[in-house]
Parts: sequence; structure tokens; C-alpha cells
Amino acid sequence: MQNILKRYFGFSSFRPLQAEIIRAVLAGKDVLVLMPTGGGKSLCYQVPALMREGTAVVVSPLISLMKDQVEGMAANGIPAAALNSMNDEAENLRIRAACVRGELKLLYVSPERLVAELPYLMRDMKVSLFAVDEAHCISQWGHDFRPEYAQLGALRQTFPGVPVIALTATADRLTREDIRKQLKLSDPAVFVSSFDRPNLSLDVRRGYQKKEKDRAILSIIARHRDDCGIIYCMSKKNTESVADMLMGHGIVAAAYHAGLPAEERERVQDDFIHDRIQVVCATVAFGMGIDKSDVRFVIHYNLPKSIEGFYQEIGRAGRDGLPAETVLFYSMADLVQLSKFAQESGQREINTEKLRRMQEYAESDVCRRRILLNYFGEPADTDCGNCDVCKNPPKRFDGTVLAQKALSAIVRTRQQAGAGTVTDILRGNFSAEVVKCHYGDLKTFGVGRDVPARDWRDYLMQMLQNGLFEIAYDEGNHLKLTDAGRQVLYDGRRVELAVVRKEEPRPAGRRLRPLRSAAVPVGPGSAVPEGEMPPRRKELFEALRLLRKRLADAQGFPPYIVMSDKVLQNLCEACPMTVEAFGEVSGIGEFKKERYGKDFVEVIRRYVEAGTARQGEK
Ligand code: ADP
Ligand code: MG
Repeated sequence: MQNILKRYFGFSSFRPLQAEIIRAVLAGKDVLVLMPTGGGKSLCYQVPALMREGTAVVVSPLISLMKDQVEGMAANGIPAAALNSMNDEAENLRIRAACVRGELKLLYVSPERLVAELPYLMRDMKVSLFAVDEAHCISQWGHDFRPEYAQLGALRQTFPGVPVIALTATADRLTREDIRKQLKLSDPAVFVSSFDRPNLSLDVRRGYQKKEKDRAILSIIARHRDDCGIIYCMSKKNTESVADMLMGHGIVAAAYHAGLPAEERERVQDDFIHDRIQVVCATVAFGMGIDKSDVRFVIHYNLPKSIEGFYQEIGRAGRDGLPAETVLFYSMADLVQLSKFAQESGQREINTEKLRRMQEYAESDVCRRRILLNYFGEPADTDCGNCDVCKNPPKRFDGTVLAQKALSAIVRTRQQAGAGTVTDILRGNFSAEVVKCHYGDLKTFGVGRDVPARDWRDYLMQMLQNGLFEIAYDEGNHLKLTDAGRQVLYDGRRVELAVVRKEEPRPAGRRLRPLRSAAVPVGPGSAVPEGEMPPRRKELFEALRLLRKRLADAQGFPPYIVMSDKVLQNLCEACPMTVEAFGEVSGIGEFKKERYGKDFVEVIRRYVEAGTARQGEK
């Protein structure tokens, strides 16, 4: 096992559980693997595929995922192919023949193709194991049910002697049970790894309006000038307006949503994978087909529907294990919209509950990672130090008077106004609604003029979370006092509020400038946050990155398939001066050593020699 790991993948140790899982598969057992996105599930079937006689058949829901995997295998010198509807018939015939002759170690197939081939190709070839990737697609409980997966139950009976290994990043118990049942796994060994992804920073920004969001997003991207990222939006319209906004600032961005023609979606995904687009603004339709390892930031423009979805989406950042940033924007308008969706959905109670848990995360004033891990049944007993709450703990003050002002305004509208109008009343703004309803005559009109609107929005959200009022979703989203709210307003019950956090001021002297010209799509891809690497080493990193891009383009591979950012960083640290030493670096297997060693060593040597020369001049 260790030899295969080193020889083909260039890694010297397994991650937690990988070795145990591989041993179980080699022993012929059925296995269920639950690991977070980026946890390293693929190795769990790739290593046994290389060790067992025959060909491993891997079921994957998307052609783009198969392509990514086959390219990754090719880049490590492992014979693999994908059988799917995108190939022409000659190609498929060639692949079948190779399977029958036992020339492939891995064969990727779509679920419907697999089921169709059970009595034919699968019987003519020697199958070493079946791997069902993204196995949650088989469950109606999951968030991504695919009817084609439902027939995979036939596998277990048709091939009694061949181990079936199911893998997913969706951890909840119902989905897990469903996978086991639907796939008819026989007494499977179940492996649940930690769902923690400590390299992902967590940050929530509450109550921002469009302009503030745009400014914040531009400043995040400015910190990631050479890096790729994804911005998830609730609506198609938003994906387009955010992409337009970014392009207006010279950032190479594109929108992605289910309403686009298939070719356009494919082009965007492909450009993103090949570092020709820096930022994709997408609905949740984007992402499952993305195994790109160097996504450095994921931004949620709106509150997601559930923690499961949220965790999958941020999980697409930092698969290579290097630091990556996640930011969630959260506004009252999102909450109103999502509550409406949940109420109108077929599974009203479940969806409302899921939204409530998501909201708890967004409103939390304890370590956010604890909330996430707890949700996945993995209680953490220490704070993470890598979320906004840990880095900048909320400060509290006696907000009773502020709360009373807001509650009084709500009462005086006869509870017939929404949050926006209540804010206008507090601030003394003559908005259309205020004029129409004569709210300008209220005693509370303008009593909160000294507090910025942005802060009022924040306080109102805190008050909502504290249960002082409710939103009547079925009645124009008007705000209604609760008993707790009445106690505050009439009996002077004390209210604690958190001081509104202001965005950190931009570093002086560094204006937001156009990031890169849209006309010259230079590829992003650097993983290293500025200031983390000494400048000289950053120079080397850049040189290696260019070399990687050149080698990738020559072979038609995405750059991260040739080598991940993590491996480039390892190279920068180790500075191997010989091909032999190059082969020792983590992430370089034998195949990559032979193929790329000379080119990389040459660049590194030049860099080291230039450094020595400079030293000599001093
Ligand atoms: P998942 O399918 O669980 O989302 P992948 O299988 O795509 O994750 O692996 C994520 C990343 O982790 C890949 O870049 C892979 O090369 C890396 N990786 C997996 N196992 C190891 C290991 N034992 N040592 C170092 N890197 C690993
Ligand atoms: Mg995977």
C-alpha cells in the first residue's frame, strides 16, 4: 500500500482512515465512506484498484467529474478511461476492448451506463471492485437525488463476490442509512472521518446592502489577485449582475446558472478549470463537477438554504489543504425570501427547520466551526481560532433603549410594516411607504437618527434572533411583537446587543485597482496569501506556476492536474536540485518525476544560482 501511494501519487503517508478503508476493500468487504469534500476519498478506491487484479468500475454522476479523474490518473501514469455518451462510438468500442483485455486499472461510468452493461461488458471483463462516488445521489433525503442512481441496487446481487465501496461527503444519518439500504450493501464497514476543514476560514457579514456587499467582495478579491474563487448567489439575476459588476472592475468573471445553454455552462466550467476565468458567479447548479484543488475563496452572496448545502459549497475551496477563505453575507431580505421558499415547498417542516439551523450558524456568537461540527454530530471542545467570532469576539452592551425604540416603532405602525420601513421610521426617512402611510406623524419618527441605517439593520436582525419580534411571512413580511418583545417595551426587560462590527479599513495607500484586464485573460492560480511567503520564494513560486501552465497547456490538461498548488509550495520549500530529489517531494510520483523532473529542476536551479550570485555581490 505504502509503495503504491508513493510510486503513483507521490505521497508518503495516508490521511486518517484511508489505510483502514483500503485494507477493508482489499479484504473484499463492502464499505461506506463518509469524508468531507477534499478529504481524499478518491485514493480509497484508486489504491485498491491498483493492487487488485482486474479493473475497478467507478460510478460517477457527471461527465466533467469523470474527465477530471481520468486526466488525473493519466497525469500519474495510471491507465484509466471513461465510458459515456460524450465519446463517439469508435472511442467506446476501443475502451470496451481494452476492458476485456484487462488493460485498464479504472473505468469510470455513468450510473445508467453501468446498469445497462451489467449483463454484457461487466461479465466479459474482470471487475476488481465497484466504487459508487457521490453516493448520496441515491437518496431522496439527500440534497442531490438522481433517479439514475436508484437502479444501482442491482450491483450487489449481480456481482456477489466483488466489493462495493460507496463514498459521499453528505453526513447526515438519514442519507447514510438510505445509501446502505438502496445499494443493498452487505454488512458494510462504515468509516466516518472528521468533517473539520481547518484550512477554511469562516466569516459571516450581517446586514449588508448591495453596495456594501460589492465593496466587500472587491476587497476580498483584491487580497486574492492571482487566485480563483466562486461566488454563490440565490438567483440567476444576481449571478449576472455580480459578474457584470466584477467585469466592470476589470476582473475576469462569468455567470453560471441552470438557465444558460449547456454549451455556455460547459465553456464557463472549462475556462474556470483551466484558469482562464478568475471568478464564477453561480447558483448552486455550479460545483459538483468541480474537483479543482486550488479554489482559494468561496463567497455566499446570500444565505444558503441549509447547512449541508453550505458546507458542500465552501468545501470546494482549499481542497489542496492550503488556507482558503469563505465569507457568507446574510440579510433580512434573504431570510424573508428563503422562509417563503421553505413554506411553499413540499417538505415544509424539514426545510423550515434546516433554514433555522442555517440561521443559527449565521447568528452565532460562539465559534462558528463548533456549530458546523456539532451539526454533523462531531462535537468540538475547543474554539477554532479561524472564524470571525474567534478572531474578533462580539462585544456586548445594554441595548434596552435601542430595542425599545425599534419595538415602539413597530407597535406604532400597528404592526403593519416590514423591516425596511421600520428602519426608515427610526432614521426619519420620508420613503414612499412612510409618506403613503403618514408614518412621518408618528412619535417615534426619527428617534433613531443618530444610528446609521446599516447598524439598525444589524440590531433588528439581532432582535429577531433574540425572539423580540417575528416576521409574518404570510402577511407582507410585517414585523409582529412577541411576548418577549412586549416585556422589553412595557416592563423594561433588559436586552443585550452585540456591537456592530465594521469592516476592517482598507490598508492605507493600497487603492482598489483593476485586477487584470479583461482583454488579456492571464491565468490566476497562486495559492499563497500575500505576506505568507518571503518575496524571493514567491518569485520561485511564480516561475514554477508559469512552467506548470506551459506544461499543462501543451498536454491540454488543467494546471492543477499537472501539479496542485500544494505540490508547487512543497517544491518551493524543498528546492530540489536533481531529478532524484524532485521525486522525493510530496505529491510527485514516479510518472511525474520522469515527465516533469528535468523542466522543474532547471527552473529551480536557475533560481538558486541567481540567489547565490546576488549573495556574492553583497
Ligand atoms: P474528495 O473526493 O474526498 O473530495 P479528493 O479525493 O479529490 O477528495 O482529494 C482531495 C485532495 O487531497 C487531492 O488533491 C488529493 O491529491 C489530496 N490527497 C488525498 N490523499 C492524500 C494523502 N494521503 N496525502 C496527501 N494528499 C492527499
Ligand atoms: Mg471526490
